[in-house]
Parts: sequence; structure tokens; C-alpha cells
Amino acid sequence: MKYNVAQLLKEAIGSQRQFSISEAVSDVEQLMDQVTGDATFVRTHQGIWVQADLIVRISQDCSRCLADFKRTLELELDEEYFPEVDVRTGHRLLPPDDWEGLYIGADHILDLDEATRQSALATLPMKPLCKPECEGICDRCGADRNVNDCDCYALDIDPRWAALRSLMTEPQT
Ligand SMILES: [Zn+2]
Ligand SMILES: [Zn+2]
Repeated sequence: MKYNVAQLLKEAIGSQRQFSISEAVSDVEQLMDQVTGDATFVRTHQGIWVQADLIVRISQDCSRCLADFKRTLELELDEEYFPEVDVRTGHRLLPPDDWEGLYIGADHILDLDEATRQSALATLPMKPLCKPECEGICDRCGADRNVNDCDCYALDIDPRWAALRSLMTEPQT
């Protein structure tokens, strides 16, 4: 999701562009694979303010059964981007001291990928599950318990019950 904003940077404050997004993306960590939505870019006195409503398709591995699964997330971006280089003079620009936003590179390309990825990561659970009731993998026999119910744990007797039972069956003296 890369946009050349050279022209918009030359325009007056308040100028804007609106467009729809529908593209395949591949980020380094292979988290997102498709993004759709709408975005608005507005020229501000410092740079370009981006507002976007996105639907992002995410691939993850289930933390219990390790299967790949896909889900979609709805994300809102609300970020300001500061140009590293003045589009007219080609001179480097220094961001305000307290700048916490993002940057537009010297090629005047505004890239939404990183902001989208960060926003997705902030939304996703630490331990993703393919489904809330995922049974996971048996740590004894390795069976995917969503597919095959193994008996590994059915045969176990809770040790507290075992102790109680041996008490009850001890001969009275
Ligand atoms: Zn799972
Ligand atoms: Zn098992």
C-alpha cells in the first residue's frame, strides 16, 4: 500500500485525496495478506494526515493446535506522516521535536503497510485460537484433538481421588 504523495505535498493545506484500497500485501512476517477499505489523505501544515477504514485479512497459527487459519480484522488508521524531504527544494526536513508520527520517505512515497501491521498487532490476541473451543494437540500422543479424540487423559485418575480410594479400601484393624 504505497502511494506517491508528491503532488499532494505541493498543494495547499486542507487539500485531500480519497480512494479505495483493495490489494494483496505481503509483509515480512506474513501476517497480513489482503487489505481492502477506504482512505483519505489530507495535506496538513506538517505533512499528510491519513484516515483509513480497513478490513485486513490475517494469517495466524493457532496457539493450541498450530494450524494455520485466517481471520479478518477491521482497523482504523488515524496517523500523520511527516515528509523527510521538502518536495519542492529536495532539502531534508527536520520533524518537530515531539514528533511521534510516521514518515514519508525521500521518494515521496507514503507507505501504509507498517501502520496497518502495527494496528493489526495491537488488536490481535497474544495467543491466537483457530476457534474458541479449539481442543489443541495432545502432549502425550501428538493427536490433533479437534480431529481425533485420544484416550491419553481419560485413563488418568486424579491423584487425590486415588489417595482417597486407597484409604477407603484399607482393611479396618
Ligand atoms: Zn486450534
Ligand atoms: Zn493423546
